[in-house]
Amino acid sequence: SAMREAKVKRTKTVCTFCGVGCSFDVWTKGREILKVEPNAEAPANGISTCVKGKFGWDFVNSEERLTKPLIREGDSFREAEWEEALDLIAKRFREIRSQYGPQSMGFITSSKCTNEESYLMQKLARQVIGTNNVDNCSRYCQTPATVGLHRTVGYGGDAGSIKDIAKAGLVIIVGSNTAEAHPVLATRVKRAHKLHGQKLIVADLREHEMAARADLFIHPNAGSDLVWLSAVTKYIIDMGWADEEFIQMNVNGFEEYRESLAPYTLGYAEEVTGLSKETLIQIAEMIYEADGTAILWAMGVTQHLGGSDTSTAISNLLLVTGNYARPGAGSYPLRGHNNVQGAGDMGSAPENFPGYQRVDNPEVLAKFEQAWGVKLSSEVGINNHDMIEGIHQGTLKAMYVKGEEMGLVDSNINHVHAAYEKLEFFVVQDIFFSRTAQYADVVLPASPSLEKEGTFTNTERRIQRLYQVFEPHGDSKPDWEIIQLVANRLGANWNYQHPSDIMEEAAMLMPIYAGVTYERLEGYKSLQWPVKPDGTDTPLLYTDGFPFSDRKARFYPVQWTKPLDFEEQYDLHLNNGRLLEHFHEGNLTYKSKGISEKTPAVFLEVSPELAAERGLKDGTLVRLTSPFGNVKVKCIITARVKGKEVYLPMNDTGDGAVNYLTSSAADKDTDTPAYKDTRVRMEILQEE
Ligand code: SF4
Repeated sequence: SAMREAKVKRTKTVCTFCGVGCSFDVWTKGREILKVEPNAEAPANGISTCVKGKFGWDFVNSEERLTKPLIREGDSFREAEWEEALDLIAKRFREIRSQYGPQSMGFITSSKCTNEESYLMQKLARQVIGTNNVDNCSRYCQTPATVGLHRTVGYGGDAGSIKDIAKAGLVIIVGSNTAEAHPVLATRVKRAHKLHGQKLIVADLREHEMAARADLFIHPNAGSDLVWLSAVTKYIIDMGWADEEFIQMNVNGFEEYRESLAPYTLGYAEEVTGLSKETLIQIAEMIYEADGTAILWAMGVTQHLGGSDTSTAISNLLLVTGNYARPGAGSYPLRGHNNVQGAGDMGSAPENFPGYQRVDNPEVLAKFEQAWGVKLSSEVGINNHDMIEGIHQGTLKAMYVKGEEMGLVDSNINHVHAAYEKLEFFVVQDIFFSRTAQYADVVLPASPSLEKEGTFTNTERRIQRLYQVFEPHGDSKPDWEIIQLVANRLGANWNYQHPSDIMEEAAMLMPIYAGVTYERLEGYKSLQWPVKPDGTDTPLLYTDGFPFSDRKARFYPVQWTKPLDFEEQYDLHLNNGRLLEHFHEGNLTYKSKGISEKTPAVFLEVSPELAAERGLKDGTLVRLTSPFGNVKVKCIITARVKGKEVYLPMNDTGDGAVNYLTSSAADKDTDTPAYKDTRVRMEILQEE
């Protein structure tokens, strides 16, 4: 029996629970996880991890894992073998494509999956099916940040490394609950703030942990960030505090931009944001006095009608003050999922081939046509928001969704579920039977990160390898293998033996990944893109100019978009976001025992003022109603929130899901849902 006993094994992996990209060793025996051990060599985190990285992994062995393909029969599903499921998918995809054309199909890749898997999903859509209708969940979070940066500085990524943030004289956090959403990154800020005199400004609706630590915590009116950012920028220019030498050498369009700031006087900003003139001046002074300013932002900025514009305003401010191309300065959009950055890099977007190369650029198109041996569509595809609208309008007939819980995570989910019911054919590939899978015709069982090889790219553009810890559970397979099976059933002739083969092809076609090879990423080695063919990488962007033809950045004028209008009866502003313990909507972490026992249910944060006005106590059950749906939830009273602002964490996999309440309104430039522009009314319910 000693012979049969499994050996203790130690394998390097990369965390899948947020964009910080912590890497560590997993100690296992058989399928048992003995411990997660950080390693000083880990480039993003060193010896730190947070609770999710340390204890969040037993979902891998959950009894709820999908082990077999499922095929719909009437209102239920039956188990099937792979052959049958793949044959059915190939048959229906062929029929739908020939009846309605390739533009009737939509493909969603996952920002939890590897780079190689996202690469293959977009290749399936483009090469095999013939459509650019491909997207990923960064549409729900970070696409506005990417757009804001592409407009101004050219690369949609963090300007420097996570460790550089510690060198900033001033850190400004806007709309990010960093301590809970990006814990290990927040630790760097906390340490620099405490030990090295770094200054910290936090702008948020909630007084979360980072806000409580800040030198200056500001609470602008909901949805008004662009106004205070622009007023501060204008004041800096008016005072003669702009970095004129930097602007002259490095940035185009200053005069036009300066004129566009005319409306953003201190008086106007005071009126719109509710921040006093003195506070606005104080922010400007802190930026002027700081040796290097880094601005970190997340969903509090992006998930509004003007999310791309506010991201742009942040980048404009950094350009005015010369805060690019030096360590401890610059833009840090904080990517949520582990591979949001990578999914975007790999062309999981309707307008871009891998490497942010436009599908409607003839040179780019020719390059990909030559590499893939087919004629490709140069028509920009539709994003996931328009896919849902397309189903309602009858133009989109089939979808293939990989590793995305769209049915909970998209906004206005009653509207999304109604769309799913209209699909003629729906394939969902996941590790669990998700809410989205309930609407599928075929469900394919995939393997999570611990059961496969590949690479992830974290928020600081760092590409890291993960190694296989376990064999795939049951009959599940790694996503890249499944996509290859589907493609080949549809007549492709792919022959990838290992994810490294996929990366080799991707690197050939993507200038920013040119020098990426698996050898250069062995063990704890990593590369930050752009990576030159000789393997030189770029921890700090823009030191030899900006990636435009004249090497100069561009000021991009933007104007404020007012938040959505709601009827007066919706008298409460509903904010939403994460909890430390849970991964997004919680569909992995609720299946990890240690975590689900600690934080089993969702709750609504209510201010002491509102509690007093309405007679709410901790535990009072309320119904929230918006024009789009309603949820029942229990209250907790906390001074973290103010006045008529309430906060509902997003981790509920059932009837408490916040997206029953959110609308289909979206950022005007990217269609990212305006989750944060939500208002509700509240009724107190009797306890059952
Ligand atoms: Fe994982 Fe993020 Fe926590 Fe690091 S900070 S262990 S990447 S969840």
